[in-house]
Amino acid sequence: MSVLIFVEIDNGAIKKSSLEAIYYGSKVAENTQSSATVLAIGAADADALKAAGKFGAKKVLHAADEKLSHENSLAYADVLVQAAQQEDSKIVIMAKSGLGDAVAARAAAKLKAAIVSGVTDLPDTSGGFMVTRAIYTGKAFATVEMNTDVKVLVVRKNAVEAVETDAQASVESFSPTLRDSDFAATVKNVEKAGSELSLTDADIIVSGGRGMKGPDHWDPLLELAGALGAATGCSKPVSDLDWRPHHEHIGQTGIKVAPNLYIACGISGAIQHLAGVNGSKTIVVINKDPEAPFFKAADYGIVGDVFDILPRLTKAVEASK
Ligand code: FAD
Repeated sequence: MSVLIFVEIDNGAIKKSSLEAIYYGSKVAENTQSSATVLAIGAADADALKAAGKFGAKKVLHAADEKLSHENSLAYADVLVQAAQQEDSKIVIMAKSGLGDAVAARAAAKLKAAIVSGVTDLPDTSGGFMVTRAIYTGKAFATVEMNTDVKVLVVRKNAVEAVETDAQASVESFSPTLRDSDFAATVKNVEKAGSELSLTDADIIVSGGRGMKGPDHWDPLLELAGALGAATGCSKPVSDLDWRPHHEHIGQTGIKVAPNLYIACGISGAIQHLAGVNGSKTIVVINKDPEAPFFKAADYGIVGDVFDILPRLTKAVEASK
C-alpha cells in the first residue's frame, strides 16, 4: 500500500508546490505505515524525477506518453486512478492549483473517494481521519472527517515546511490505458505570458497597487524584486489600467498566492485583494496612510512613501548579499 502523490511538471522539472506535496505525502505515509509514491505525467527529466526522493518519495511512476504532454484533466485523472489502483493507494495527494483541483475532483469521483481541497495541515489519525481546510478564502478553517476507504487530499502551499535530504527515488515507467474520449479537446500549443517567475510558485512576491502612481513608476519595485529574486504582482485596478500585465493580478478575481514573503507596495488592502494573499507566511505592507486596512493583515508595516522606502530596501538587500 502506498500514499500516491500526483505532481505537476514545468519545463521538465517537478513544480515547487508539488515538491511540497511530496513532502506532505511522505509525512502522511510515515504516519500511516505506508510509503510515498509519486505519479508524474508528461515529459520530465529523469534526474528531476529522482529528486522526488529528497522530499521523501520512495518511487516515481512516470507516464511519459506523448499524448499526455499537455495538461488534460480528464486524461490525467484517468491515469491517476489507474496508478492508485496499481499501487493500492488509499490516500491520494496533490498540490492545490487549477489543474490539481480539476484532476482531484475527477479522480475522486472515479475512486468513490472523499475529497478535501485546501488542506492546511497533516491529517489527525488519532481517532478517524480528520483534516483541516481553509475556508472563506483563508479567513477560517474547517475540520473535516473523511470516512471513505480511499481519500483525496488537495494540499495548500505552506501546509508543511518541506525538509530536503540526499535520498533519491527510483523511477519506473508507467503505461496507462488511454481513452480516446479523454482527448476530445486537445491543447496544440502553449505560449507562456512571460518568462518571469511563476507567481503561484514564488517564494517572494513584491506587489504594487495604485500607490505606485502609474505605469512609468514601477522601476523601484522591479529593482527590489530583482534584488530579492522575487516575482512581481499587482492589485486589480493596476492591471485593469494596463499599468501591469493581467497575469500579475492578485486577489479574489485574480491569482491566489501563498509565498513565504509578500511585500505590498501602495496597496490599500481591500478584502478582495486580501482574499488572494492571506495564505502568505509573512506579509510586509508599505503604505503612506497609517490607517490603510492592509496594516491589519500585515506582520510588518512601514508607514511611508513607496518611492522613498523601496530604494532604501533594495540598497539594504544588496548590502546584505
Ligand atoms: P487603492 O485603493 O487606490 O489604494 C492605493 C493605496 O496606495 C492607498 O492605501 C494609499 O494610501 C496608498 N498610497 C498612495 N500613494 C502612496 C505612496 N506614494 N506610497 C505609499 N502608499 C501610497 N482588487 C484586487 O486587488 N484584486 C482582486 O482580485 C479584486 N477583485 C475584486 C472583485 C470585485 C467583485 C470587486 C468589487 C472589487 C475587486 N477588487 C480587487 C478591487 C478592490 O476592491 C480594490 O478596489 C483594489 O484592491 C484597490 O486597489 P489598490 O489598493 O491598488 O488601490
